[in-house]
Amino acid sequence: MSKLVVIDPGHGGHDPGASGYGLLEKNSTLDLALQVGKVLQDRYVVRVEWTRTTDAFVSLTDRATLANRLKADYFISLHHNAYDGNARGFESYIFSGKVNPFTGNAQKLIHVEIMQALKPYGVVDRGTKRADFAVLRETVMPALLVEYLFIDNAQDNALLQNLSVRQAMVEATARGIARVLGLSEKPDRQKAQGPSQTADKIYRVQVGAFRDRRNAERLLKKLKSLGFKDAMITETLAPPSDENQTN
Ligand SMILES: [Zn+2]
Repeated sequence: MSKLVVIDPGHGGHDPGASGYGLLEKNSTLDLALQVGKVLQDRYVVRVEWTRTTDAFVSLTDRATLANRLKADYFISLHHNAYDGNARGFESYIFSGKVNPFTGNAQKLIHVEIMQALKPYGVVDRGTKRADFAVLRETVMPALLVEYLFIDNAQDNALLQNLSVRQAMVEATARGIARVLGLSEKPDRQKAQGPSQTADKIYRVQVGAFRDRRNAERLLKKLKSLGFKDAMITETLAPPSDENQTN
């Protein structure tokens, strides 16, 4: 069975978490968590579960219990930091008590992966840290908590509202998780990344070719009824001069 990652978007429901400049931690972490999971599912052979997929309140114990019950291979909790408005940067946490060596190695690798993505935007590296956070203490599998920037700092907040930065964080986090778990890429993706392929390749789909224009018109009508735009197939219609030919 493929590996299972549980992604935990911090806060939710009546607990908004930190906030700044119109951005609520609970909404931002949910968006990032859904995206990280989607990138993992799209690119790798992996199973993904979330502790919440809506704006719902879930207790810290329930989050850990879910991951334990599902026997997750890795748990990652996503948060934004807040302090006094002046602090900036990225930091990550593992449990301060006894942990498996894998937990520390995974933290280092994912931390570096995310920092590499954020460095071009001037993000400060606050380092790999350890703390007695409930979701880290109560989960039995290797677990990480990331603090994606300070939501209450003007510069960090502007980065959090920048879609390119968000995308970079999502990609780096998914890549890091994939690397620590040794996830294999999906076969179709390996092929798409081959050297002979180009990113802007166009796939032409032909739905039918007819010698008899009436047969083509019939299919066109059917496709239109299914909601396809006729521009998609009119160029495949035979010219009117073929009308008398049969097939
Ligand atoms: Zn938080």
